[in-house]
Amino acid sequence: MSINHASDLPISGNDPANIKLLKSALDSSISGIIITDNTQFDNPIIYCNKAFEVLSGYLREEVIGRNCRFLQGNERNQQAREDIRKAVTEGESITVELRNYRKGGELFWNELYISPILGEAGQVTHFIGVQNDITRRKNAEENLQHEREQVELKIEKRTRELNENREYLDSIIQTIRQGLIVLDPEYKVISANDFFLKTFKVENRDTIGRSLYDLGNGQWDIKQLRVLLEQILPTNNPVLDFEVDHEFPHIGRKLMLLNAHRIEIEGSFKDRILIAIEDITQIRASENRKDDFLSVSSHELKTPLTTIKGYNQTILRLLPADINPKIPMMVNKSGKQIDRLQNIITSLLEMSRIQSGKLVLDADSIDMNILIKEMLEEAQEGNPEHILIFEGQTNHTIPADESQISQVLQNLITNAIKYSPDSRKIKLMLTEVSNYIKVSITDYGFGISQEDQKMIFDRFFRVSTIQKHFPGMGIGLYICAQIIKQHGGTLWVDSEPGKGATFSFTLPIKAKESGDE
Ligand code: ADP
Repeated sequence: MSINHASDLPISGNDPANIKLLKSALDSSISGIIITDNTQFDNPIIYCNKAFEVLSGYLREEVIGRNCRFLQGNERNQQAREDIRKAVTEGESITVELRNYRKGGELFWNELYISPILGEAGQVTHFIGVQNDITRRKNAEENLQHEREQVELKIEKRTRELNENREYLDSIIQTIRQGLIVLDPEYKVISANDFFLKTFKVENRDTIGRSLYDLGNGQWDIKQLRVLLEQILPTNNPVLDFEVDHEFPHIGRKLMLLNAHRIEIEGSFKDRILIAIEDITQIRASENRKDDFLSVSSHELKTPLTTIKGYNQTILRLLPADINPKIPMMVNKSGKQIDRLQNIITSLLEMSRIQSGKLVLDADSIDMNILIKEMLEEAQEGNPEHILIFEGQTNHTIPADESQISQVLQNLITNAIKYSPDSRKIKLMLTEVSNYIKVSITDYGFGISQEDQKMIFDRFFRVSTIQKHFPGMGIGLYICAQIIKQHGGTLWVDSEPGKGATFSFTLPIKAKESGDE
């Protein structure tokens, strides 16, 4: 409100008592008040109240006669000043916020309300300035603004990081030569990489937003797969190496290998499933060809070798008594090599039978006490430099294929001897554990590292550090593990490099029921 006319005042007249009253009213105000005279050169201050003295730190006598601008210190270019100048020129009132300085040099924010007083002829004769220190409010506003800017900066940074991460992930996903799709918790496809689209000869619109189970001709709608996928989000159990052999639309019959994992990036995105799909049709076909080749060639080798063995035995029998003793010795040695060759061929044939699922188990009833004793005696005879010890017993006969279990025992005993050339003792333990018998063969030789232990039951795996010095094909343990598995037992190894190895297997005392895994 501007005070333009004396009549606006509640008290009128020139009575000194009234003027004193007005003055003390002005001095009681908590707002700083000044009056400038516009009729004099440079608009000097002609009045200031007490609150102004408190606010500015200047005494009355220090401000009277000066222009108000001294309050701005060196900051003469504030925008508010322009606004004031304009208002003063036009004789209008205005409220501005100014950065002002107290006498001591301390900055304060001044909310200044300027109102012109008009003279008789309507010209501006005075200005009244009402001032309030709003530094606290300004600081609070500035802090708020600063915090807002900080938050915005953080959001911007985080968004940039997320975008970079997404671009980074996208570029990996697009580069990978495996079909990849991401599913939401309803098993709907959120994204698919180019390789997926190319593999299945489909487009994004055939894929994105659709349920995995509705893709193509329902190729992934497999009961067992559904069960496994439903476990992923709640349990974080991945689906590993799930094979799907199917007549796919556009691409025909293919064998696909599927792996699925819950996606976790820094603890977020937990409700997404990443599925990697690999076309293993070619790989499997070439593996099968290799297996077929091994199987056929072993069969072809077996027949002539049996004949050679027969002739070798006949030669030995027919040798005249007075012949040079070196000759029977050499025939004997070649007989041993023939046996070795026969063992290798038998193993290869065994392996291809296992591979093609044609390993047939005869249902014998084995006395393991006797079988182990016999096998150990035979091994001891051929390896006099080792001491083979047998401990323990079982009171049960075992329903198992005797020739297969013999082969397992023979492989494990041969390995124990072969891979402990510098220590003599080999120990064989037979015990009963629950409704299983357990056989452990311990040697004190090279041992096997943890890393290698994971692979020694794989086909053709041999520990690289020792394979050069010992003959072998790396299929013995694979065969043993498969035979024991088919009998319903387990084969495993405990070992420390340099200290030896213990290979143990279990066999159920009760016959394995059909349908058991
Ligand atoms: P092979 O003996 O013909 O190489 P196996 O399948 O029987 O094939 O064994 C696979 C590999 O496991 C061997 O090459 C050897 O490196 C390691 N291995 C097996 N038995 C032992 C053992 N008792 N001690 C140390 N290493 C062994």
